[in-house]
Amino acid sequence: MDTLFLAYRDPIFGIIIFFAIIFIIAFLNYWWGIFKGKEERYSIEQFIKRFEVMADASEYKKLLDEFSISSESLGLLAHSYSKSGEYEKSIGIYLIALKRVKNKEEKQYFLFELGKIYFKAGFLRRGADVFLELLRLYPRHKEALKILMVIHEQLKEYARALEVMDSLEELDVEVESEKSFVKALQILSDNSMTNQKKYETLFALTQQEPLVGRMLFEFARKEGFDFDLDLIKAENILDLLWESDVSVLENYSQPLAKAVLAAKIGGEIQQGAPFELEVLAALKKQNYTKATVGFEYTCTCCKGTFPVHFYRCPSCYTLKNPHISLLLIKKEHEEYYTF
Ligand SMILES: [Zn+2]
Repeated sequence: MDTLFLAYRDPIFGIIIFFAIIFIIAFLNYWWGIFKGKEERYSIEQFIKRFEVMADASEYKKLLDEFSISSESLGLLAHSYSKSGEYEKSIGIYLIALKRVKNKEEKQYFLFELGKIYFKAGFLRRGADVFLELLRLYPRHKEALKILMVIHEQLKEYARALEVMDSLEELDVEVESEKSFVKALQILSDNSMTNQKKYETLFALTQQEPLVGRMLFEFARKEGFDFDLDLIKAENILDLLWESDVSVLENYSQPLAKAVLAAKIGGEIQQGAPFELEVLAALKKQNYTKATVGFEYTCTCCKGTFPVHFYRCPSCYTLKNPHISLLLIKKEHEEYYTF
């Protein structure tokens, strides 16, 4: 007993115990790393199995699967396929690459790229599943959260989209416009709400977010509510003004609404009105009726131009009122430009 007590007081004994503790901690840490690595590999393999049906039959996939091509090369190949719009091939290669990932960074990269391709190719549900898996492993991935938000919005899962926005807000991402826009979509699709309540709620949202103004105008026109045009910029609803009845346009005093009315009935046009409307008004006065206007919508962010109106750009997914351009066209061609 005395020997043990003496040994305990011996400084060498203390050092041995100290190193023994360090060794045990290092060993446990190493073992835990191996265990977690195996668990994550198993989890990713199980996850990949859910998506493999699509590309299983492809010969190129078998070829790539058999040879030990590095994950970096597979990533480059998948990226070039996705650039040329061959999404199915790209997806197949990303799935193979995911099996070969060497570290967390690679896994994060391939999951994100796979999710993006599913989203681009229009497989929204699969895209959402991939991003959820990615967020399970890396909950603070802002870009994945942003795309997941758009996916839920497009799937009309507005409550889920709002949940994703809460997560983005916690990561200091500005989503005020997105929130108001999705809330407006939620209101418009809510069958339990009266039209009066919908109008009032959309009106309140318009004060916070100008994008909702156009939705309110469309709703008011469809359901027969009055609309104060001063609430919004008339340029953002130029196409809707053109579609409006003369009796409706007569109630508005804004210069653009007056110009649209003049172009429709051949009235006096004010200075500064769009050239196309000025020409139409002059032609109408001469009883020339074969001309009309069409519209083009340009994203103010990526400058992409589309023939139909959008709130969220179909190309860069920015949520913003597009710039609406007028096109002077022959009347028989009107159907190609207006939808
Ligand atoms: Zn865009």
